[in-house]
Amino acid sequence: MPFTLPDLPYAESALEPSIDQKTMNIHRTKHHQAYVDNLNKALDGQAEFGKWSLDEICLQIGSIPETIRPAVRNNGGGHWNHSFFWKIMAPKGSGGAPSAELTAAIDQTFGGLDAFKKAFAEAGMKRFGSGWAWLVKKGDGSLAIGSTPNQDNPLMKGFVDVVGRPLLGVDVWEHAYYLNYQNRRADYLAAWWDVVNWNQVNATFA
Ligand code: MN
Repeated sequence: MPFTLPDLPYAESALEPSIDQKTMNIHRTKHHQAYVDNLNKALDGQAEFGKWSLDEICLQIGSIPETIRPAVRNNGGGHWNHSFFWKIMAPKGSGGAPSAELTAAIDQTFGGLDAFKKAFAEAGMKRFGSGWAWLVKKGDGSLAIGSTPNQDNPLMKGFVDVVGRPLLGVDVWEHAYYLNYQNRRADYLAAWWDVVNWNQVNATFA
């Protein structure tokens, strides 16, 4: 069963002004669609790996044969990351707030929500070139911030610096913000907090 582009859980224009409709349209129907198509191409004819879920592909990327691994890593990661990204955003005012449990963990690890947001944005700013910044829940239940290059993600144990179950992730490829923000990645990251879907983050954390 080939992978397909998921529907957005809101209208393309619903995240304005943080993310404009044109960026959302091109990002999803061109960039994300290309990751889906190229992942399907890479897995075409692969009897075993062709049956794996997207999570399994990322979690066990080291088991994918080296002949197809770069294509599966880039495009499987791209499909996972973008499918996740659309879900952890919501129209301004509808995303709720961090739960009591998540707030306690953020306070303990980062010294408060503002300090967490600052550290998370810094991870996004320091990612040179293209990639993602992440908040993850590690295997021991603790929280960590990190970033990955290209379309890698924290499920790809053995291949990335930050490992765990992603709770929050922000795309810092230029294609995610350049139409509206040009080179101002910091402005994009600041405006992005308005459209974080904390309800979804809370559910993953729990
Ligand atoms: Mn992207």
